[in-house]
Parts: sequence; C-alpha cells; structure tokens
Amino acid sequence: MEEREILIIYTGGTIGMVIDPETNSLVPFDFESISKQVPELRKFDFKVKSYSFEPLVDSSDMNPDIWIKLVEIIEENYTLYDGFVILHGTDTMAYTASALSFMLNNLKKPVILTGSQLPLGTIRTDGKENLITALEIAAAQKNRQALVPEVCIFFNDKLFRGNRTTKYNAEHFRAFRSDNYPALAEVGIHIKYNYPFIRYTTLNGTFRVAKKMDTNVALLRIFPGINREVVKAVLNAPGIKAIVLETYGSGNAPTQKWFLDEVEEAVKKGLIILNVTQCLSGSVEMWRYETGVHLLEIGVISGHDMTTETAITKLMYLLANASSVEEVKNNLNKSLQGEIYI
Ligand code: ASP
Repeated sequence: MEEREILIIYTGGTIGMVIDPETNSLVPFDFESISKQVPELRKFDFKVKSYSFEPLVDSSDMNPDIWIKLVEIIEENYTLYDGFVILHGTDTMAYTASALSFMLNNLKKPVILTGSQLPLGTIRTDGKENLITALEIAAAQKNRQALVPEVCIFFNDKLFRGNRTTKYNAEHFRAFRSDNYPALAEVGIHIKYNYPFIRYTTLNGTFRVAKKMDTNVALLRIFPGINREVVKAVLNAPGIKAIVLETYGSGNAPTQKWFLDEVEEAVKKGLIILNVTQCLSGSVEMWRYETGVHLLEIGVISGHDMTTETAITKLMYLLANASSVEEVKNNLNKSLQGEIYI
C-alpha cells in the first residue's frame, strides 16, 4: 500500500510562540523548533512534511491575501499529499476556516486547522495533543478515501466543520464551539467519527480553487441606543457592497422609523444586507416577530443559522466570484459548503 503523506502548513499563532525576553510578550518561532517539541511527529505510520510561512503571522493579522496564499499552497501540493494540517492562531481561525471552505471547491482531502491556547514549549501545553490528533484525522482513510474531506477545526477534543465554528473562550482549552451543527468527530481513547454529518457530496467534481475575495463588506452589530449617524456611516461607507447585520434573537431589529428608513434606502441603492443573529445558537426567522417582518419587507436577506464569520467570508467569496448581484443573493440562501441549514 502506498504510504500516506500529510503536509503541515505553519502560519503562526500561539502554538509556535516563545516569550521574548526583551518585551516579555509572545512572539513566533520557526517550525524546526516545533518539531523538536513534538518528537512524536516521527512515530506516525505516515510521512509528515512541513511548509512554514515567512514571516509567521499572529492570526490577528490574518487577511484575504493570506487566505489566497494558503489556497495556492494547497493547490500546488494537492496531488502530492493525502491531507493538510494548518497551524493557525486561534483568534481568527474560525474566519480562515470559513473562508477556505468556500475557496476550496470540490475538496476530497482533509484540511484541518488547529492551534493552541498555550505554546508548545510550555509544560501544560494543549498544542501537542491538538497537533497530533489533527494529523491523525488528516491521515484517516477508508479504502483510500479520506474520512473527513472537509475544511475543519480540531481543538481540544472535538472536530468541527470549519464554517460552523466560533471561538468563544479566550482561556479554556475548549476554545471553540459549533452550536448549530454537531461535531464531526469526538476524541477520547478513540476518535469517534460522526459519519452522517460529514459531507461526502463533492466526490465527482474536480478540485477548484478561488483566488479572489472582495473585502467591500462590513459588519453592523446593533445594540439598544445605537446612534443614527453610526448606522448611516456604515451603510454609506464608500465602495461598500454588502453588510452583515447582526440582529437580536431570531433576526429582530429596532422598529424606529429612522432605522428602517436608513436600511430601506441602502437596499434600494443596491446594498446587500444579510441578517444573522447575535446568539451563538439558533436561526434567523424574520417572519416570527413584527420587528423582523419589517426587515423582510424592506429586502433584507436571511442568514438563517450562519455564523458571523461565515456570513462575512461567504459574502467576500460571492462578491468576488459570482457573475451578478442576483447570483450572490441566490447563493446566500443556499448551502454551498454545509454552512447553513435551510
Ligand atoms: N494571538 C494568537 C493568534 O491568534 C492567539 C492564539 O494563537 O491563540 O495568533
């Protein structure tokens, strides 16, 4: 049987950081040092190679240009490896996982993002377990087919679909959650795959990579007392094409006339407004309350149960890759990569 090979793409993040004695803050260190911290990398029954970003990035500096670089690396190496593990800072990992899920079309191989809350060099690090298990999952196959051919986040003891995941805890080792979709695998003594929830639907198409993202999107999170000038400024930001409107509960927003007028005017001018909930769990149902019905009537689009991270990156992807505004709108109401339940 051919030997399996996994490529680790090291972008940066806490997992590979050390304390800078001069500033006393965490700064990235190179992959050679990572492999010294994890000698287990040599014990797998598959080969592990690595590609290191130069310079390494704290994920707070992550951006669409780096996502394009990431998908290009995966494209160049796609036929050479059985799976990919991306080491990434936790802060924006859910955004990157969501973006990659749209940029990597007809993916038949695992792309598993992981990182850690404590650097690998520290005694109680969670990075070692995260890296080792992410590699196992990336290499897991049955009859030469990947068990999880999706963009995922593995963290602590759960494998989640990347575009369903949110970072919710800055301290705990269990830093991510996916409230609207079950874990794709749970890890204890065994790795238990949740097969009915893993996507195997793309097996016939050829692998395609999107290398354009349009950043003319904005996020408007409403709150009681939100000021008209702020709403106006966001809705009228120069060049803006789409807004993710983070509303209350099942998609509700103030019914004050000035608010609805501003939103209506923006929609009439051609702005796409996508409604997602501020709640971690549950779905937008604009017809449910009068406060949501107004938005529906104005032409605001339901984001259903999408995370904010996914709403933003899906818009960036569609605005850059769809051929018309209509196509963008139609695709917002479809599941492209299992990111939405309709
Ligand atoms: N600031 C770090 C990053 O996101 C935090 C982490 O990796 O956990 O790159």
